[in-house]
Amino acid sequence: MSIQSPKGTFDILPYGADEPWKLSHLWQYLEKIICSTASDYGYSEIRTPIYERTELFCRGVGDSSDIVMKEMFTFLDRGERSISLRPEGTASVMRAFLEHKLAEGRGVQKFFYLGPMFRYERPQSGRYRQFHQFGIEAIGCAHPAQDAETIDLLWEICRRLGLKGLKLHLNSVGDAGSRQAYREALQNFLRPHFESLSQDSKTRFEKNPLRILDSKDPGDKKILEGAPSILSSLSPDAKEHFDEVRRLLDQVAIPYEINDRIVRGLDYYTKTVFEITADVLGAQNALGGGGRFDGLIGSLGGPDLPAVGFAGGIERLIQTMLAQNAPFPEQPRPLLYLLPLGEEARRACFSLAAAGRRKGVFVEIDLHAKKVGAGLQAASKLQARFCAIIGSEEIAKGLSQLKELSTRQQIEVPLDRLIDFCLEQKK
Ligand code: AMP
Repeated sequence: MSIQSPKGTFDILPYGADEPWKLSHLWQYLEKIICSTASDYGYSEIRTPIYERTELFCRGVGDSSDIVMKEMFTFLDRGERSISLRPEGTASVMRAFLEHKLAEGRGVQKFFYLGPMFRYERPQSGRYRQFHQFGIEAIGCAHPAQDAETIDLLWEICRRLGLKGLKLHLNSVGDAGSRQAYREALQNFLRPHFESLSQDSKTRFEKNPLRILDSKDPGDKKILEGAPSILSSLSPDAKEHFDEVRRLLDQVAIPYEINDRIVRGLDYYTKTVFEITADVLGAQNALGGGGRFDGLIGSLGGPDLPAVGFAGGIERLIQTMLAQNAPFPEQPRPLLYLLPLGEEARRACFSLAAAGRRKGVFVEIDLHAKKVGAGLQAASKLQARFCAIIGSEEIAKGLSQLKELSTRQQIEVPLDRLIDFCLEQKK
């Protein structure tokens, strides 16, 4: 059997994909919208390595997180160093930020990233082992307006992509004091149910009880129905912060639902956390999420700087767009398809194609043309607008027969006007 792509990975193809969300021109469109929206909000792109020293994720994502405990692709390199493929983007951005001293002499720093991430999860629809995230991080601003801007940016990307019916779930996990108070309240609530909890939740009971709220185990979920809300443990400062985020979202007409069960899987969140879901996706319905993480940079050995960010999944955005029939730009198609017959014509067409391309025209040239019929079929398959069949006679006369493929109309155009003629038709 021929070799196939590894489990949980997929190819993104120009055509011939087994599912439409794997077509590359859709990806290019999304990436363009994401980059331009982030740029409109003042975020600049940062690109970090695909792999990092494992220790970065242990410290940055959290030793007790599912990601670090169960999902990382970790290996020893030939120098016996433990390396991991990045499972998310934030830890790497913070590492680069500290390594290159990007904070010095500047105010708030705003970055965005986009690229593949790797998690050893059970592959299913909407969940892959190599998947693609885009994300932003704003570093240095503790004001709730920064949280609101972050949410607004993710919301705006979804709006520009034409997505509808999305839900924004909003919560606050408070500051260190609120979390300590809630930790105790939650442990007190769970203690009588301890024996019925899942094994993972039992382990988390002491280490990180808030994580239990993230449990997907049906038994845990049932028990958690009566759990106290983290919102009732917020300190006055955390509460005021949360209220201001809400006021600002109201001000720019972004609808949200308070969902006190959202704590997000990672250890580093403080205060605001949020998630955006789409109902068309089934079980894996989260398009993206994030929040504030004021303690992370300090815990990585950096200065005590506040930060807020989010990450979204590109696969799920495309899948949602397709499910909702959101508009996509059409796949680019050639304006002119040159069909040379013979060596001399091939040379002439080669120059014509080059001249057209230099003027920004999409010109395709059939370098293997042997028969007119097959060439015309190929031109139709590419949905070219015009096709010029050029043989020695056309060259001798300096004229070409230009066919408009959709109307089958044919007109005579001087060879040296061919490109300009096509350009005029484009307008
Ligand atoms: P997370 O970093 O887990 O908060 O994920 C942020 C977003 O990335 C999620 O809302 C999903 O859209 C996407 N995502 C996370 N894990 C996967 C995965 N294994 N496959 C596809 N998308 C994912």
